[in-house]
Amino acid sequence: MKWFQEKLYEHHAQMLSVDDVLYHWRTEFQDVLIFENEVFGKVLVLDGVVQLTERDNHIYHEMIAHVPLMAHGLAGQVLIIGGGDGGTLKEVLKHPIERATLVELDGEVIELSRRHLPTVSDGAFLDPRSNVLVMDGTRYIAQTSEKFDVIIIDSTDPMGPGAPLFTAAFYEACRSRLRPGGMMVVQSGAPFFQPGELEMVCGRLSGSFTGVRPYLAPVPTYAGGMLALVAAGETRDALRPPCKVLRERFGPLQGRTRYYTPEVHRAAFTLAPSFVGNAPLR
Ligand code: SAM
Repeated sequence: MKWFQEKLYEHHAQMLSVDDVLYHWRTEFQDVLIFENEVFGKVLVLDGVVQLTERDNHIYHEMIAHVPLMAHGLAGQVLIIGGGDGGTLKEVLKHPIERATLVELDGEVIELSRRHLPTVSDGAFLDPRSNVLVMDGTRYIAQTSEKFDVIIIDSTDPMGPGAPLFTAAFYEACRSRLRPGGMMVVQSGAPFFQPGELEMVCGRLSGSFTGVRPYLAPVPTYAGGMLALVAAGETRDALRPPCKVLRERFGPLQGRTRYYTPEVHRAAFTLAPSFVGNAPLR
């Protein structure tokens, strides 16, 4: 049997059996591997790092999309930076939004995901509310005059092409593109192995936002089984509205999520600071 080994951290690696290689090539920006695994289905790997699997990507995508959109409650314009697989776009479009702009650096990730992982985006790229741009997210945010209600950073880790999406200057540029009451969310790695990344994201976001809160989602294919996300907005409370408010807003999503619920939204922010790291909480 052939095995794929992900080695991101010292003294730790994880392996998935490669039951069939569907694609392996280097794009202009990164190495792309798509393979089939008996348990997780198709797996997308960029530069040796698992991005998603068919089996558990819904948890990641629901938690990165619905938490800010439900916390906002009235989002019309949404921006996704990265997210070329289309999973976040699919979840965002479940809300009654006007437009979702997706800015992905690598057009080949979009094409390959649509071809090999069609259930992840499930037609989202064809939705008339989708506006897909192939360009660097930092360049887009520096140039655009558009304003957004929610900005979602669905990027790779802070190395290679994803690194500029983790700077304080980028977060400040994002804040300046938010409408009043706007929010942003940043995928922030595997907290058990990368506590420094979570602290860094919280610290840098705190330079631009008065409300900054980390939250967690269980994603079995990520090392340690957990994904850290950080939400930022005008106040901490706005990111985690009362359950009653979230239940009222849940209508359009009822029966259309497999992991996200108003109760999960609230619970995801309940963290033991000593475990998640000493993120500067306000
Ligand atoms: N679920 C994933 C994970 O494990 O973190 C992330 C999903 S998505 C595949 C990440 C995308 O971010 C990639 O397709 C990559 O090309 C894109 N990306 C990386 N750097 C970028 C940049 N500077 N601007 C826009 N997109 C970028």
